[in-house]
Order: sequence, then C-alpha cells, then structure tokens
Amino acid sequence: MTGLTVFICADIEGVSGFVDWAQEDEETERVRLAMTEDVNAAVEGVLSERDADVIVNDSHGGKRNVVIEELHPDAKLVRGGPRPRGMISGVEDADVGFQIGAHTRPGYGGVLEHTFSSSSMADVTLNGDPVGEVELNAMGMAAFGTPTALVTGDDRLRDELEAVLPESEYVVTKEARSMRAATCYPPARVRERISDAAARAVSEPIGEYPLGIETDGTVSATVRYHQADTAEKAALWPGIERKTSRKIGYESDDPLEVYSFLRAASKV
Ligand SMILES: [Zn+2]
Repeated sequence: MTGLTVFICADIEGVSGFVDWAQEDEETERVRLAMTEDVNAAVEGVLSERDADVIVNDSHGGKRNVVIEELHPDAKLVRGGPRPRGMISGVEDADVGFQIGAHTRPGYGGVLEHTFSSSSMADVTLNGDPVGEVELNAMGMAAFGTPTALVTGDDRLRDELEAVLPESEYVVTKEARSMRAATCYPPARVRERISDAAARAVSEPIGEYPLGIETDGTVSATVRYHQADTAEKAALWPGIERKTSRKIGYESDDPLEVYSFLRAASKV
C-alpha cells in the first residue's frame, strides 16, 4: 500500500484526435492506443509527483478499449461489463479521481455529445439542471469521498463544467467545430499538459475540489428519451415515475442510487 490512491475514469470521445465513432471501426488500434496514451500521461504525471496506487476504469462502449499491454505498468485496469457502478467502478478506496477523454452532455455543442446512451437518451437532469456524464460521475465519486481533480476533453466541456467543478484541473484536447469535427491539438502536446495537470492535481497538500451539485437531502433525476416506447419500458420498474410520454424520473436520498438509476435507464 502507498499513501495515495488515484482513480482514473477513461472514456474515448474526449481523447486527442478522436472526433467520430466511425474511427473505432476504421482505425480501431490507433484510437485505442490514443486513449491509452492519454491515460498514461495522467499516470506519469501522478507518479512524477507522488508514490501512488493508480486504478484505471475503461468506461467506453464495451469497456475493453485500453490496450493493457501498453498501459503504464504501475496502473491496474478495470475492464469489461456491465458491472456495478459502471464508469466509477473501482473508485471505492480512491483519494482523488480524474476523468480522462470526457465529453459534453447532449445539447451543449461538444464533440460526440451524449449522456450514457446517444441512441436512446435525449437528455438527463439532476435536481432540475441538465447534466452530462462528467457531472454524474463526479457526484458518484463524491459519494465515496473522492473529488474529481482533473478532467480532459474538448473546449465545450470545459465551459460546461465551469460552475460544477470550478477548482478542478482541466486540459483541452481539441476545439469542437461540430458534433463530429474539431480542431485537434497535437497529441504529444496534449499529453504533456495532461501529465503536468495530473502532477498538480496530486501535489501535496491535495487541493479542495468542490462539486457544484447539491446532494444533501433528496436528489432527483429525470431522463428524456428519443422515443416514447423506451420510457414506456423503463417505467415498468417499480419506483420509476413516468413524467411525460418520453420522460421518466426517480429520486432518492442516496446519490449512488440515483447514479444507478441513470445507468439502468441507459440500458433499456
Ligand atoms: Zn464513451
């Protein structure tokens, strides 16, 4: 055991050079390696500053993207699914968390914007505010006492998170030009910045990384689907409220239950 445990939630849409899901078919190995290298940059930054245990969660699609042979040899990898707690599986004992390769919520104008399921979920709200995966993962991680200290993704996501993660480190990987186009920064430069930001994020003493989401008391969430029949099926589960033809809702005093509801809602 070391003094510090760092949790890294790794997605692909915000990775250097990634602008279209078609790349997963057309250049599978390249984009998987790019995702791995962005993660490695964060791991290297952490280890340049502190002796630490690092646990990486492969959070994208089938959750078998990170090239394990190329992953930093001092990092462990959570891969495969479905699994309890999804994108934050592995956070349980972490002191600090990162979200690498992240993306905006639907409607915010970022590259490949969506929340959990681009094909079924039109938007998600938390306590009435529209939110994306980063906010939800940050809430789930915070339930374990783990603050989100670093996020990487496009310039639109940086703006989306301004009020929610005001003190967290942020590295811009590309400037969004449309849903499937961006001005991409050179990966080597991006990775230098990720490494530097990761080192700052874990330098002693660990800073305060407040989360601008109210989780004391009841947390309420809604999901609006693209199709009414998806809401129809989702609302069959006890405890799920049908709000409108395409919208369902759920509330709980436990933010992890709300997180779990939203993950389940994406699987309908
Ligand atoms: Zn993804």
